[in-house]
Amino acid sequence: MNLQGKTAVVTGGSRGIGKAIALRLAQCGAQVAVIYAGNEAAANETCAQIAQEGGAAKAYRCDVSDYAQTEQTVKAVLGDFGKIDILVNNAGIVRDALILSMTEQDFEQVVNTNLKGAFHMIKHTYRQFMKQRSGRIINIASVSGISGNAGQANYSSAKAGMIGLTKSVARELAARGVTCNAIAPGFIETDMTAQLSDKVKEAALQTIPLRRLGTPQDVANLAAFLAGDEAGYITGAVIQVDGGLCM
Ligand code: NDP
Repeated sequence: MNLQGKTAVVTGGSRGIGKAIALRLAQCGAQVAVIYAGNEAAANETCAQIAQEGGAAKAYRCDVSDYAQTEQTVKAVLGDFGKIDILVNNAGIVRDALILSMTEQDFEQVVNTNLKGAFHMIKHTYRQFMKQRSGRIINIASVSGISGNAGQANYSSAKAGMIGLTKSVARELAARGVTCNAIAPGFIETDMTAQLSDKVKEAALQTIPLRRLGTPQDVANLAAFLAGDEAGYITGAVIQVDGGLCM
């Protein structure tokens, strides 16, 4: 994939899947704005790794669930890089619990970060994408948003919402040459899944036809493809990277 001259914004680029996407896009030639919530050291590490490999990146602290912060951050990125060609909405959190014990705050925090956060970033980059008449928006959803998951009513709702958001944005911006797609990862080894017990992981493994957990790189490879010119005829799609888990 050749992304020379492109500018990418990756939310949640400090760790896990977002970090792998930031690194992969930079390896393809893009300069990358790495958005993080609070883990400055990790965000700086992503940027340092990109610089080591000869790329360009800058970290921005921004809580994507905060409308005003996302507006300021998009302005700052445009000030620094001049344009945004690729937006990857990857920032996400979980607050798992059965509905019986799920609090209103658990539900709101997850929806506000995973779903509203993506809306905020799209809202503030929308005009720019329209003016450019080109661009790529990639939303990181989840198989939980397709099939649901006990203990994840908040997260599944947010991710299903992201899929609806993806298709609506794809329809709105298609005439401007901007594509919007969702990636639905399955079980990927990151900090988010690290707290699960070995027993839970082993049980998950038994349900995955390819018999392994995914890596952040598995997701990043698809993100890089969707970001490139080669994916120009794909929009409104939801593509699973899940080892066959959800079919
Ligand atoms: P991690 O927990 O490893 O990393 C989460 C990232 O999101 C961090 O960079 C974190 O920043 C950032 N973040 C969290 N909240 C905010 C916020 N309010 N504003 C800005 N950034 C924020 O998660 P993963 O890499 O596992 O997940 C990435 C995405 O992939 C998520 O959307 C997740 O739902 C999705 N996904 C993950 C799966 C998995 O199995 N891991 C499966 C399916 C989907 P900081 O470092 O500063 O805290």
